[in-house]
Amino acid sequence: MSQECQPVHLLWTGGWDSTFRLLYLLIKQKRVVQPHYIIDADRRGAGEELLVRNKIVEKIFALFPETKSRLCPSIFFDNTELPEMPDVTASFRRLRQRVPIGSQYEWMAKYCIMQNIHDVETCIHTGGTANKLLDSMVMVTDADNDHFYSLDNRYKNTDEYKVFGHYRFPVYDAHKVDMEKVARENGWIDMMKLTWFCLRPMANHTPCGRCHPCGMVMREGMTWRLPLRSRIMYYLTLQPYVNSGLYKSAKQMKHKVLPNREPSQTQ
Ligand SMILES: [Zn+2]
Repeated sequence: MSQECQPVHLLWTGGWDSTFRLLYLLIKQKRVVQPHYIIDADRRGAGEELLVRNKIVEKIFALFPETKSRLCPSIFFDNTELPEMPDVTASFRRLRQRVPIGSQYEWMAKYCIMQNIHDVETCIHTGGTANKLLDSMVMVTDADNDHFYSLDNRYKNTDEYKVFGHYRFPVYDAHKVDMEKVARENGWIDMMKLTWFCLRPMANHTPCGRCHPCGMVMREGMTWRLPLRSRIMYYLTLQPYVNSGLYKSAKQMKHKVLPNREPSQTQ
């Protein structure tokens, strides 16, 4: 089987980074993609992720119908059904004593081992918590018109490798604003607009503007991803901790909120 016919395994959450990678693989590289989604029922926002995944697939097929034959049906797995793996758990706990990584990294590693897939793409990127553990251990691969990072085999006996050694990191050195530029240039922005990030969505399925991921989106220069009401909530709740000068005047807040419109599309 040629490389083009072999599916690329991708942990696709419906978030910005993994959706960008899905589009890049399907449309730019014309690769067959096998998405995986590990269900964490305790994760706030998981329901929204599942909803937007469906909407994104519908939009991809409407705009790029040739991708229907290349996108495999997603594989869903409940994280409560993962087997016990004491060595993985022990490595994860030791790493978490050093850096506060999320519990998803423990069950993601178990999932890869259980499924015997060790080249799954996951979208860890520069500036994230996990990078503090991995930056000195990753190596870059440029091959077959692709570019990704992975853990160097020299670290095979480390806790880092036990937990993070099953992946390729295709957007490790990418910035969200650069992905936005590529998405607009290639006509992918309608799918990217659907991507999800909020942990505490409001009843009308809009981002809260108050949780950590909402704050990250605002600070990453992508304020257009939040509706006006959510941006106001951000400035009223999160921003005071970042910049106490916010309280200077209501006029200043208006100035900060209103210009944050989505940039005009290039196509
Ligand atoms: Zn939020």
